[in-house]
Amino acid sequence: MTMNERGWCWQELGGVGWWRAEPLELFGVGAVFASRRGGVSPPPYDTLNQGGSGGDDPRRVAENRARFARAAGFALDASARVRQVHGAAVCLARAPGDYGEADALIATGSDAVLTVLVADCAAIQLLDPGRRAIGLCHAGWRGVVADAPGAAVRALRDTYGSDPGGLWAAVGPCIGACCYEVDRPVTQALRAAVPWADAVLSPVDAIHARFDLAEANRLRLLDAGLEPSRIHLAGICTACHPDRLFSYRRDGRRSGRMLAAIWTP
Ligand SMILES: [Zn+2]
Repeated sequence: MTMNERGWCWQELGGVGWWRAEPLELFGVGAVFASRRGGVSPPPYDTLNQGGSGGDDPRRVAENRARFARAAGFALDASARVRQVHGAAVCLARAPGDYGEADALIATGSDAVLTVLVADCAAIQLLDPGRRAIGLCHAGWRGVVADAPGAAVRALRDTYGSDPGGLWAAVGPCIGACCYEVDRPVTQALRAAVPWADAVLSPVDAIHARFDLAEANRLRLLDAGLEPSRIHLAGICTACHPDRLFSYRRDGRRSGRMLAAIWTP
């Protein structure tokens, strides 16, 4: 096990590799983010692809999901899933199962293992330790514009009475500003949505800018009332690490997907 300076631990078991968000796990929950290592899929899904929509063999995807769940220590049949649509809808997962179109889930106690799939977008794990309430949110640039992170925080507040200032958050590996150049539709949507767009956009030329997705999600969480000291960014770029991570921008439409999960044992 190795831990980076931000409290994200790299873990390997039986060839399967993943990260744990230690600042959240210290409260006794599971908060994990899969790598691409340790599965059975051939290129371009090699090897631990957990996404079913990219063209990989469903039997291999099922085996990869089973391997990851076993290694990371959660029950696959306890999973709650959503069909991610880059919006800000939040679903209340009272039990395992498929919840249709949404980009965030919340739960309490051991109702369900919350899961999302990503490959460049951010997965944001949320925890209210006192109320044993958890949340998980998928947010790329569209999710930032729609304020998916803020919607998940407000859902925890409105459903369980969570104080946003007492929440802990972990933002998983996602595409970094080093590798994420965006054009005018993205910059205009960001500028229309938030007052701090220039803090997360570094101009390249008149049209293009590099976009810091993790920082944008952090600022959305701060706007929602979280304390800076309780937000932990992995600081790992998906596109920069082909040995460990899938990247949609780098690999294209047939990219694999990584699973992020959070649960209360
Ligand atoms: Zn990069």
